[in-house]
Amino acid sequence: MTDQQFKNWYIVEEQDIYWLYCDKADSSTNVLSESVLTELSTIVKKLSVKQVRGLVLLSAKKSGFIAGADIEEFTSLKSSSAAEQLIRGGQAVLTLLEKLPFPTVSLIHGYCLGGGLELALACRYRVAKDDIHTCLGLPEVKLGIHPGFGGTVRLPRLIGAPQAMDLILTGKTIDAYRAKKIGLIDHLVPDRHLKDMAIKCIADKLPPHKPSAFIQMTNHAFVRPILKAVMTRKTEKKADPHHYPAPYAAINLWSHYGGNPKAMYAEEAKSLAGLITGTTAQNLIRVFFLRDRLKALGKGGTFPVSHVHVIGAGTMGGDIAAWCALQGLKVTLQDITPKSISSAIKRAYALFKQRLKNPRLIRNTMDRLMPDITGTGLSGADVIIEAVFEDTQVKKELFQKIEPLIRQDALLATNTSTIPLEEIAPSLAKPERLVGLHFFNPVAKMPLVEIIAGELTDPAEAAKALSFTGSIDRLPLPVKSSPGFLVNRILMPYLLEAVLMVEEGVAPHVIDRAALEFGMPMGPVLLADTVGLDICLHAAEIMSEKYSVIIPGILEQKVKEGHTGRKSGEGFYRYKNGKHIMPKSSSGLSATGQIEERLILRMVNEAISCLDEGIAEDADLLDAGMVFGTGFAPFRGGILQYCRTEGFENIRERLTSLEEQFGERFHPMQGWETIK
Ligand code: NAD
Repeated sequence: MTDQQFKNWYIVEEQDIYWLYCDKADSSTNVLSESVLTELSTIVKKLSVKQVRGLVLLSAKKSGFIAGADIEEFTSLKSSSAAEQLIRGGQAVLTLLEKLPFPTVSLIHGYCLGGGLELALACRYRVAKDDIHTCLGLPEVKLGIHPGFGGTVRLPRLIGAPQAMDLILTGKTIDAYRAKKIGLIDHLVPDRHLKDMAIKCIADKLPPHKPSAFIQMTNHAFVRPILKAVMTRKTEKKADPHHYPAPYAAINLWSHYGGNPKAMYAEEAKSLAGLITGTTAQNLIRVFFLRDRLKALGKGGTFPVSHVHVIGAGTMGGDIAAWCALQGLKVTLQDITPKSISSAIKRAYALFKQRLKNPRLIRNTMDRLMPDITGTGLSGADVIIEAVFEDTQVKKELFQKIEPLIRQDALLATNTSTIPLEEIAPSLAKPERLVGLHFFNPVAKMPLVEIIAGELTDPAEAAKALSFTGSIDRLPLPVKSSPGFLVNRILMPYLLEAVLMVEEGVAPHVIDRAALEFGMPMGPVLLADTVGLDICLHAAEIMSEKYSVIIPGILEQKVKEGHTGRKSGEGFYRYKNGKHIMPKSSSGLSATGQIEERLILRMVNEAISCLDEGIAEDADLLDAGMVFGTGFAPFRGGILQYCRTEGFENIRERLTSLEEQFGERFHPMQGWETIK
């Protein structure tokens, strides 16, 4: 076999050991595309008839071993039978590899995920680099599918059902140490010993990892029904089976066929083929590509940042500062109230502890986050983020004061959630400097940042904002300056419709239940209480200056009474120790379809109007904003994708019928005529 034969693989022969390098053509990352697998099949068939001491599979890419299957190919599958054929083909290659008459080793560094891990599982040994970047997992469930190249068969067999199914059902990745501990890898060695260890496995015929008798028992026919019940209960807490069928399919597969590998391979392929061509998977794959698109926007320019100065250490400023420190930046945090800074630092410590675990790393990160009452950090900062009260006058005065103190090349940003930049920027001598960096709450959980360019904003400053956002591992979305920008503008009618229903006498938990059943991460009434009813009212008032917004009287009344939501102990719900108290009768309640219809269609109508006004550049970016900024039901692929699935004309008709029943606010807005 010569190197030139293959586009994605090359082979080096040393002392009768074949070193097979995966090096996918025209790509910085290895993925198991159809052509990669076809070539592997040819290579393995040729090797199977040779006199070989052993085969070592490794990657020629710096980024890692193999990152998974080629997701791009998932989108072009025409039918489930075509998908099944493709999957069976992949399974056959790995079975050939598993059956080779000599020892096989996969040598792992960096990512070893999905199909990549399934490939490694078909080898006799797995040897991994002792390094923080080594990570293993089967994240398929996050795309609405489960493993298909024998992973559901080989993994439970190797490490037992509880550990294996936990990886399959959650899609989480684990580091090399954990992988070694549970037996997923045989040997963990430093980089310089990797190849020697592979040779040793082959030459000394080292015993590969074998699960203990107790672990093997977890796959026994008597045990499977018990474990199935436990797994199902645990999974139901995280994923609605109607919306996310994949984990349940994986549980059924293992519990029905766990004792019969041959049948299980066939059923694995059949089940995966059904899932992959279904709407949930296709929408989650869409969301995967939307994320990639936003990530790419953050990679465009170069704007090196080492120091961020945040003004306002409240809910948002404090959390933005903590996030930036967690990302390795030096951060100075300014506020007129020392108490705000101290509670922000306390919250930051909790975040670092949860994310970093290692005391030395936590200490180093805390050292980077500096309280700065007097604002000494202003003059040296690369980025200044304002997060003071949502009040145009307060913001204007602040910018006027700080402008002479900051560097000429520093990025100057506001975290306003509703005020158009044109209302703040004129307070500056150089209004073209101001951009909006609108983070979402909670910052550590919501990946989106709206990048707002006002009429006066210099495009170079907006480009710096994109690059900065990408560099702190958040997803930037460019939006036009307009009250509420994109996400809050679409969310507001949904929240207000919920409040109107409360005013009509519908119980808050019934409304919230309807939204949860649709797939929203939190009900709108609880969301309004969590954000703060005073903040919601203030935002609605700002938006009402430009758009027709009906503010329900009950919202004004609650704020007047001081019942501002979670923070005051009472809003639409009552709270005990920060948790909302559910009415006792809630368990048997089922929400009516019309509640869902009213909530979602108000959002949809506003989304169409935003698209028409060009608030987001296109429909995909608008969908990305709603998924990553609000958690809008990812399995629906975005708000406009939801309309596409239901049919735009159908939704428009439903809006018109709601208009007849509930009035003007459901009137189809401008944009419906042109949407496709
Ligand atoms: P907050 O009330 O929790 O905090 C504001 C902080 O600013 C307070 O600690 C206050 O002491 C400080 N402050 C006020 N004037 C100041 C000044 N002149 N100099 C220094 N510090 C000053 O408010 P928040 O919820 O964090 O909101 C801050 C900004 O972020 C607002 O513009 C808001 O619209 C926006 N925002 C809020 C959310 C949210 O969910 N809370 C989400 C996105 C954006």
